Amino acid sequence: MDENTVLEALQQHFKFATFKSQLQQNAVMEIVKGENDVLVSMPTGSGKSLCYQLPAVLKPNKITIVFSPLLALIKDQIDHMLALKIRAASLNSKTLKAEREALLMDLKTTTPNTRLLYITPEQAATNTFKELFKNLTKFNKVAYLVVDEAHCVSQWGHDFRPDYLKLGELRNDNKIPVIALTATAGVEVTKDIVNSLKLSIDHRKFKTSSFRSNLYYDVFYQNIVDDMYKHLKDFILECLNSEEEKELPKEERSCGIVYCRTREQTEIIAEKLNSMGIRSQCYHAGLKNKERLDFQEQWQSGDYPVICATISFGMGVDKSSVRFVIHWGIPKDPASYYQESGRAGRDGKPSKCRIYYNKADKKAVEFHLTRDLGKAQDNVSKKLNAQSAMNGFAKIVQYCETVLECRHKLFSKYFGDPPPNCMKNCDICTNRKVVADMVELFHTKNIQ
Ligand code: ADP
Ligand code: MG
Ligand code: ZN
Repeated sequence: MDENTVLEALQQHFKFATFKSQLQQNAVMEIVKGENDVLVSMPTGSGKSLCYQLPAVLKPNKITIVFSPLLALIKDQIDHMLALKIRAASLNSKTLKAEREALLMDLKTTTPNTRLLYITPEQAATNTFKELFKNLTKFNKVAYLVVDEAHCVSQWGHDFRPDYLKLGELRNDNKIPVIALTATAGVEVTKDIVNSLKLSIDHRKFKTSSFRSNLYYDVFYQNIVDDMYKHLKDFILECLNSEEEKELPKEERSCGIVYCRTREQTEIIAEKLNSMGIRSQCYHAGLKNKERLDFQEQWQSGDYPVICATISFGMGVDKSSVRFVIHWGIPKDPASYYQESGRAGRDGKPSKCRIYYNKADKKAVEFHLTRDLGKAQDNVSKKLNAQSAMNGFAKIVQYCETVLECRHKLFSKYFGDPPPNCMKNCDICTNRKVVADMVELFHTKNIQ
């Protein structure tokens, strides 16, 4: 099928003038061919659903089966499809009897009208579905098997769902292309997806590069600067550019996040900054719900430029003018650091990500991790998790203490991307010697 036909279908059925990205277009074109299994790995909001919805529409008389983890997500998708006059349905415990019967009738016909059938993995394990699936495949009526939120197959991910593992069985002895979609996953999660879903060896991959070229990464060491709070203040002022932005509406002015490991730290830092003339607020799970919402709202609307927060802050935060993300202390692991620091520079403008490292903080985390591992000894899956938490933490410690290589490499390794062209967007690539001296001083100076 040529590109024009596909583009026309995009406009006609989905009312989009163009593809959202080249990657989205490439993925759609590959899936439309229908020859290979495909793994799509793009951040949330990139338009992954369209990658299978458009090909589904282009397969008249066939059905695309979509596995999705939550009924709420399924409902949104179906409502959206129906609004576009694309026939979509779901089969689950909540489906009304009449609806279910009509659906099953349609699926029995030689040329079904249903284009998309959404199923939860739990539902996929039922005999009803297995029977239905057998019949559909027997008459060659399934266009694609789509696994949305495919990271759910992996224990390394955050929301492991055992029922996802069984989806791999569906692909036995049929040639239906499997399309797996996930928000950018690390190498380990990706491996699990490929193995569990039994993607063919030569499956095609469409993946957003993890490299954020507008983010400058560096590390400083709390115990080797004379006055760490002053150092912090100077850095924040440099990032905020307040003078130049006086004319801007307050919600568009530069702002930033200081992540701290503990509630107490968020309070201490916020207070210090306020006393030094930088308006800031703290945010942590110990605050009342209303306070937390207010503080987030005030920061979002530009009342305070700086929020000092524990990592509970950030879910659902979508502010484009975040000019810096500071970690006061050490992040949890490369994946968390990528996600948290990645809240900077969403508008594509130069922004800074810095860790203010200290040994005490590292020891405290190590203590917790060792204790967790000890507690998990007789539970295999908990033990795996604890072990993986320790491994991730060790990587971040190395990043700060020993491995003096391009900072962006931490992420490209984690996500299995080729090494990025940093172009002096980190302290090491800018001046390795200065960092090396600083690290040496950090190791020899025995404070904290
Ligand atoms: P993801 O699953 O990657 O998080 P979604 O599939 O939910 O992303 O899509 C995110 C948003 O992008 C949706 O509002 C969707 O309608 C929109 N979108 C998808 N493709 C296009 C496109 N080609 N042009 C404009 N908007 C698009
Ligand atoms: Mg999605
Ligand atoms: Zn670099």
